[in-house]
Amino acid sequence: MTDTIQSVTAIPIEAPLDADAQVTAFGPRLKASALLVEIRTRDGVVGYGEALARYSLRSYKTLIDDLLAPRLIGRNPFHVEALWAEMSRVVTGKAGGILFEAIAACDIAIWDVMARSVAKPLHEILGSMGRSHVPAYASSITWAEDRVAIPQVEGALAAGFKSMKLKLGPTIPRALARAKRVREIAGDAIELTADANWAFDYDDSLRLGRGLADLGYAWLEEPMICEDVDGYVRLRQALPLRLAAGESEHTAWGCRDLIARGGVGVIQPDVARAGGITETRRIASFAHVHGVPFAPHVGFCGAVCNAASLQLAAAMPNFMTFEAMVFGNPLRENLATTDIGAASLLVDGQLPVPTGTGLGIEIDPAALKRFRIDQ
Ligand SMILES: [Mg+2]
Repeated sequence: MTDTIQSVTAIPIEAPLDADAQVTAFGPRLKASALLVEIRTRDGVVGYGEALARYSLRSYKTLIDDLLAPRLIGRNPFHVEALWAEMSRVVTGKAGGILFEAIAACDIAIWDVMARSVAKPLHEILGSMGRSHVPAYASSITWAEDRVAIPQVEGALAAGFKSMKLKLGPTIPRALARAKRVREIAGDAIELTADANWAFDYDDSLRLGRGLADLGYAWLEEPMICEDVDGYVRLRQALPLRLAAGESEHTAWGCRDLIARGGVGVIQPDVARAGGITETRRIASFAHVHGVPFAPHVGFCGAVCNAASLQLAAAMPNFMTFEAMVFGNPLRENLATTDIGAASLLVDGQLPVPTGTGLGIEIDPAALKRFRIDQ
């Protein structure tokens, strides 16, 4: 008999971060927060999902409790496309915001349930490329002063990374000086990329991109505000290095023009933002047929999002490189019973794909109790 979803539990969690570790154009990040979804089926299968939840953690729980959970309970988890369409229809008529992040948590948990139901790793029910390890880059070297940034560069090299990403800004001279200094420290054999988090306009982005290309950088990420698709199309035509973007998009529709019009050379959807496994897979597949590689955004994500991103990395044919965060985040390090996506797991510059069923991690009940803020 077909198994059905019995309960959907939304759990808001948060933990403090080291304020010095990661300063970007948006300022320092003082805490990590996420919304976990636990789905249980009538047959006792348990799956977890995670949503990015940056601004109003409790409102995600209300949204899921009131709107999404009632539409999932009693339904067949293997009908995830139908469930996704229904969740999308009920929360918004068009692409946008925290609503799709809430859908992401439910969708990831449903895929976790499907994979555990057939006792397979998630990447195998997605149709896997069979990767046991995936190339990873260190993310991200802070744009704060040298006394903080340079030890981070040296630490990433010592950890065995062959690729690393720098946060750059707030001015072009300062950004290029940092880019040059890091190239000198890392040498030519290390791949370097840069992320400006919307810090610049078109002209300064052009200056920055040309300077980075001269230093042999492999990509420039989000130099301009993400809505400026025309700007990205023009910039990519003018620059001899890849433009990376997509972490700010919530849907495949949102990524369509950026990819189809040639505004991007790497697409970076975040599985905990862009509607979960279902929609992130659609974005990666759409990029694949346009000759654009997929590099999942991870950022401040917790353990569930890291695991889901590694499963997609193992499955998608156009996967390029995995974002391994090099600063502490208790929601990534302590929420599951095993390490996930951590620099300490690197083997020859690559991270292992979890081998267990579903997402390949188990949630630590004591850690979950410690982090949750709704009790
Ligand atoms: Mg970024």
